[in-house]
Amino acid sequence: MSGDAAAELRAGAAITLVAGHPEGAFLAGGTTQVDLTRQDVLRPGLLVDINHLPLAGVEDLPGGGLRIGALARMSDVARAAGVIERFPMISQALLLGASAQLRNMASMGGNLCQRVRCGYFRDVNSPCNKRDPGSGCAALDGFHRGHAILGVSDKCIATHPSDVAVALVALDAVVHTRGPGGERAIGIDDFFLLPGDTPDREHPLDHGELITAIEVPAVPMARRSVYLKFRDRQSYEFALASVAAAIRVEDGTVAGVRLALGGVGTKPWRARHAEAALFGQPANSGSFAEAARQELAQATPWPQNAFKVELAQRAIVRALSTLMDGAAR
Ligand SMILES: Cc1cc2nc3c(=O)[nH]c(=O)nc-3n(C[C@H](O)[C@H](O)[C@H](O)COP(=O)(O)OP(=O)(O)OC[C@H]3O[C@@H](n4cnc5c(N)ncnc54)[C@H](O)[C@@H]3O)c2cc1C
Ligand code: SF4
Repeated sequence: MSGDAAAELRAGAAITLVAGHPEGAFLAGGTTQVDLTRQDVLRPGLLVDINHLPLAGVEDLPGGGLRIGALARMSDVARAAGVIERFPMISQALLLGASAQLRNMASMGGNLCQRVRCGYFRDVNSPCNKRDPGSGCAALDGFHRGHAILGVSDKCIATHPSDVAVALVALDAVVHTRGPGGERAIGIDDFFLLPGDTPDREHPLDHGELITAIEVPAVPMARRSVYLKFRDRQSYEFALASVAAAIRVEDGTVAGVRLALGGVGTKPWRARHAEAALFGQPANSGSFAEAARQELAQATPWPQNAFKVELAQRAIVRALSTLMDGAAR
């Protein structure tokens, strides 16, 4: 049997095992799964280790895209030459996430599936619609300084925690999966679900569906891109607000732009209103500020996190201005 066929079989076996157990789950780096199992937040009846599957490659695609295996470690992706050269926002987002030790363990598939950092989700004695559907949301009347202002519902306001997912959303990446029903490709914006009435459902994955790879299409303007992260402390900490940005300017006018926000949305937030507002406008701080204002006009702030509205606007302006300053040098 060829190596490829054996790998196919091993992947198939892992999928069948998880799909066949109602409480089954995959185990990659374990940096989310093991933490939450120890805290009794997750109670997997069966954990299937997938680290032996050959899904750790980072491959440059003809035409300028990238294929990142689901088991590629955050640190390996951050230092891949093709990532640094063509998609600096991905490399920067990874290096600003977690700690060096965690990045060596944590996989890209696990990063997309990591769970929220809301303290009530992680405290089994608190009501939490995400952990225990229908029990209520303790954050609404509780401590919510770090919570979301975009994409919220009256059932859940937890912020999506991933950094690299923000860059991937800005770049229109595609998540490839294999499950009991076969293979499929899911646009990354559709991969993250808004909480709505079912905050316990975070992804459109079927039970036992395995992420195999993340594909990033060629985005020439991303060669000059940036990821900025604003947080309470510089050592490893989750974002209060973050921005992934790329811009193409022709004759002083915005001819193309990609913008996504982290730390403020219940999912990695593609700033489509700001992108639309910028297109065809002069590439200057006035247009950047107006576009940021239009994006954040949709925000629903809570008493403790209202500061994020201005923070996110300033972050957008800072990111775009940083790119313009870089272009001028
Ligand atoms: C102290 C700390 C600080 C952190 N700071 C940051 C930060 O600043 N920014 C940031 O982005 N992240 C941060 N993280 C989160 C970290 O990046 C994630 O825990 C990590 O990426 C998860 O990857 P893993 O391989 O360890 O996943 P695991 O813990 O193994 O799995 C996580 C989840 O994903 C599922 N899963 C894993 N692989 C697959 C797959 N291929 N297909 C389908 N499902 C799968 C598992 O079943 C599980 O539900 C931090 C984590 C810690 C502990
Ligand atoms: S914000 Fe979401 S995760 Fe936090 S307590 Fe409310 S329902 Fe749970």
